[in-house]
Amino acid sequence: MRELVEQLTSTGGLDNASLEALLTQCATDDGVLQLLRDNAVRTAQKQFGHGIYIRGLIELSSYCHQDCLYCGLRRSNRSAERYRLTMEEVMACCREGYALGFRTFVLQGGEDATHSDAWLTELISMMRTTYPDVAITLSLGERRRDSYEALKTAGANRYLLRHEAANEALYESLHPAGRGLKHRLDCIRDLKSLGYQVGMGMMIGVKGQTISHIVEDLQLIKSMECEMVGIGPFLPHHATPLGNEPAGDLKLTLAAVAIARLMLPHALIPSTTALATLSPTGRLEGILSGANVVMPNLSPSDVRAKYAIYENKASWGKEAAEGLEALNKELQTIGYNINYSRGDYKNE
Ligand code: SAM
Repeated sequence: MRELVEQLTSTGGLDNASLEALLTQCATDDGVLQLLRDNAVRTAQKQFGHGIYIRGLIELSSYCHQDCLYCGLRRSNRSAERYRLTMEEVMACCREGYALGFRTFVLQGGEDATHSDAWLTELISMMRTTYPDVAITLSLGERRRDSYEALKTAGANRYLLRHEAANEALYESLHPAGRGLKHRLDCIRDLKSLGYQVGMGMMIGVKGQTISHIVEDLQLIKSMECEMVGIGPFLPHHATPLGNEPAGDLKLTLAAVAIARLMLPHALIPSTTALATLSPTGRLEGILSGANVVMPNLSPSDVRAKYAIYENKASWGKEAAEGLEALNKELQTIGYNINYSRGDYKNE
């Protein structure tokens, strides 16, 4: 198994059978998991030193017309509290974030039908004009190619659109009312061809997912050469069809993050909020598996609880924009620091 880890580290890839064997072993063999994570950390440090990029997360809307089985924002969840931020509220978040030192803003939200191209381009243009030096990342789900193009022209730079599941049967089982895996992947290809830096990813431990599905996910991420990779554990939300399912496994999540790092040494990989929610040490463990980004919450405090994709989502303290000092102190305990620069993808 150790040879497989070394091979992955030196070549950036493994065949499906070897990856499956490695992931399976990591679930029970702490020695192999540690070796994998140590190699991933060394690879990340070669690219990024001991700096961790921060992204200010602005949760634009909790309205969503999708009905993903795992997500608390799904349209069938009648008990979800819905809100949408006004342009003025978003600009106030940016003002606060910029003063705190953020140079990337991430606009994330449910697929809110009121977010027309006209509304979004006006908002993005305003952000671009007011803060010419920031990166603007969008995470607004599936839209038409011409919409992605208009948002890019208005000033957006990056787009996060997790593929969620590379296996078609698994994808269908999680999104029975969705537009299908092919459509999701077409969106990702459109975004890439329009020049966005693109983020893919998936949850670990969602119902029906096997180790071989995770292997398919990792191989797809590698083959698409995406610039960002978001991997976090599945966490149940009681008011969804998967509300009684167990949360994803911490070790398996860390192993998947480490493999993603070794497959894509230059990628920007967050230590996800879901990891920080799953375990009090999750944020640091993600970094100690090769992650190099943290995305503190910059949403207005009165809406944070309403953006409940899963329960007890960490959005305070070190997961909050106003907790940057505490976050930095925590990072320092493992020898890292916040890197306040924009942190664009560099393939060198
Ligand atoms: N609507 C956009 C989209 O679909 O890409 C962005 C928002 S969506 C809520 C962001 C991500 O949250 C999804 O890609 C999904 O992987 C993750 N997510 C949703 N429900 C989750 C859950 N129960 N546990 C962990 N992650 C979850």
